[in-house]
Amino acid sequence: MKPSSPGVSARMSRQPSKDTGVELAVRRLLHAAGLRYRVEYPVPGMPRRRIDVAFPKAKIAVLIDGCFWHGCPRHATHPKANAEWWRRKLERNMARDRETTEHLTAAGWTVLRFWEHVPADEVAGAVRAAVDRERRGGESREGNTRAPERP
Ligand SMILES: [Zn+2]
Repeated sequence: MKPSSPGVSARMSRQPSKDTGVELAVRRLLHAAGLRYRVEYPVPGMPRRRIDVAFPKAKIAVLIDGCFWHGCPRHATHPKANAEWWRRKLERNMARDRETTEHLTAAGWTVLRFWEHVPADEVAGAVRAAVDRERRGGESREGNTRAPERP
């Protein structure tokens, strides 16, 4: 029941901030619900950026952001040593996050971002709902120009 490809673990071990317990738990829940997805999927047109959990056909990107590295308003801490360096580093991370979201949205993707402190079942539930909406061909989010499907 390991959905990831062999290369993924090696790749992710170099990105410890990404391989959070929440992400693994979310993937397990989605897999158990019968959803099939790609992990560490390359962001189209943005070299070296990855989507944590991607549904390429439905164009749904799930990004789970570590509270520290991505500046969660509830849990971000600001190291006292080298404070200026850290401030810039974290601001750069957050700017990258916004850029990635905007890029994907412009390319027609639905971007679902969660803090790692959000319970896994909540994240999985939101992802399942988005995938369901996409499969029904209905309106998935604000700004979607397709007509909503009414029963
Ligand atoms: Zn947090």
